[in-house]
Amino acid sequence: MTDPTPAGLVDAVPALASYLRPATLLHPEAKAPTAHGSSLGGPALWPDGAPWPHCTAGHPDDAYEDAAPRDPEITAAIALVPVLRVRAADAPHLPWPDGADVLQVLWCPNDHDDIQGDRYYYGPAVELHWQRADGLAPRTPPRSRRSDDEYLPTPCVLRPQQIRDLPDRDELPGELRSAAEEFAERNGTEYHRDLACAGGWKLGGWPSWRSTDLIPVDCGACGARMRHLLTVESGDDPDVSVGRHGELHVFVCPQDLGHPVGLDLQ
Ligand SMILES: [Zn+2]
Ligand SMILES: [Zn+2]
Repeated sequence: MTDPTPAGLVDAVPALASYLRPATLLHPEAKAPTAHGSSLGGPALWPDGAPWPHCTAGHPDDAYEDAAPRDPEITAAIALVPVLRVRAADAPHLPWPDGADVLQVLWCPNDHDDIQGDRYYYGPAVELHWQRADGLAPRTPPRSRRSDDEYLPTPCVLRPQQIRDLPDRDELPGELRSAAEEFAERNGTEYHRDLACAGGWKLGGWPSWRSTDLIPVDCGACGARMRHLLTVESGDDPDVSVGRHGELHVFVCPQDLGHPVGLDLQ
């Protein structure tokens, strides 16, 4: 028997080493987070004096809202909600811009159906904010005018764990995929279930393509192949549900972090 772990597999099939990517498993637990550490679902921090971000995209449900005339500014503005805040020390492998040491992930807690170009997508609109911790102060975000409960995360503390992640078999060339699957079989495991794409809330690493085959995500602004940044998993803590109780993958452009994120549901 060989060691049936990703490390054991890479020892047995060294060509897989170039596919290992660092990742952070977040292990959220519903419990009041501290004001400044890494956390999920708030509490919010924001640069002093800067406005809290609002969603300006259209929503498929907008047409069904009451027919009374509204102030167009109010109709257009739904406050984003805090999803994840992570300190650089907890995920040092992310593509941190110079000077940034906090990443905040916010989303509009409503469904959207036209924010990914031709690519099918039906879910929350996600924004990333790469910031400096010393410029942030506690902030109570405005209440969202409208939201789906399943997109409002319960506040959680995190127990970040650093791992090395191997890709979904769809990402591997044929010979390597066969070698990985043979190794898994010899050791009484399955590659895609036990050795690749660690599950749960995850920063970095690889996305799983568990319900579709691999559909590459290319940047809508420059066409570059995007890189997986975050997996949001449906489940108890923090009690969110995405993509019919599946996973939401957030991708970033390797050329420019300012390009709009790529989103994929599994
Ligand atoms: Zn929205
Ligand atoms: Zn780009």
